[in-house]
Amino acid sequence: MTAPTPTAVRAAADLAAIREQWGDLLAAIEEPPAAEWPPREARGFLDQLAAADADRHAAEPVIGRVPLTLREHPAPLNLSALTAALDVERDLFAFADHVASRVQRLPRAHRTETHGRYRYPTDTADRDHPARWRYQTAASPGSRVHGLHWAAVWLEGRALNDAVPGAEDLCTPLPPLLLDQLAATARAARRQVERVLGRDGRTTDLPDPCPWCGGSLAARTRAGGEPVVLCRSRGACSAPAEGRTRGVWRGAELAELWGRLDGARRAAA
Ligand SMILES: [Zn+2]
Repeated sequence: MTAPTPTAVRAAADLAAIREQWGDLLAAIEEPPAAEWPPREARGFLDQLAAADADRHAAEPVIGRVPLTLREHPAPLNLSALTAALDVERDLFAFADHVASRVQRLPRAHRTETHGRYRYPTDTADRDHPARWRYQTAASPGSRVHGLHWAAVWLEGRALNDAVPGAEDLCTPLPPLLLDQLAATARAARRQVERVLGRDGRTTDLPDPCPWCGGSLAARTRAGGEPVVLCRSRGACSAPAEGRTRGVWRGAELAELWGRLDGARRAAA
């Protein structure tokens, strides 16, 4: 198998970012829109980062289905979040249908013979294989029943051309043009989710001082990029800086920073 192209990797990363933030988007529908960023307080933001980091270390399920589905909201408090969720879900479901129609093999049929008459019943195990994207019909919602998370996981698998154990021939690789379209769709959907969650490139001051030097801390997000926390003392910050930029925390380092902030808060309580 050849290595995934940069476009495939980018598409898969954007799809993963959408499903990782999907729970936040659904939760945001139930809350009144915040007047300023962050929608929830900054410590919640850091909690999320620490939790996301812990999740990455947990074993990945083979089929990533979670019952995190968009439900009817009789009285949504944040219409922007609801609209974004409906748009993104519609776009990714439609794109999964499109991709499946192009690259997913139809269910096999078996030939059977009874008294000289041939019949071709569908192989139901193949038709119902859990790795298959199933279309919506008048009688069934198909794979849509599993919500956006599964659509994103399935599309990630197609972008990276992941082999399905036990059904290696289920899908063919995406043609380059279709992969480009998937990458564009995933990028636009991710932007929409991050915009409505206020994670599209803003800076906010954290309420706690730097646990090492007492300087003020600022959290910054970039659309499509990893969040960063900066100590305003920068070069003068006394935080240990082995192998990284002094006074700057990103990725897994944020969990360490958060641990320190939490410790300082407990000590002060
Ligand atoms: Zn500092």
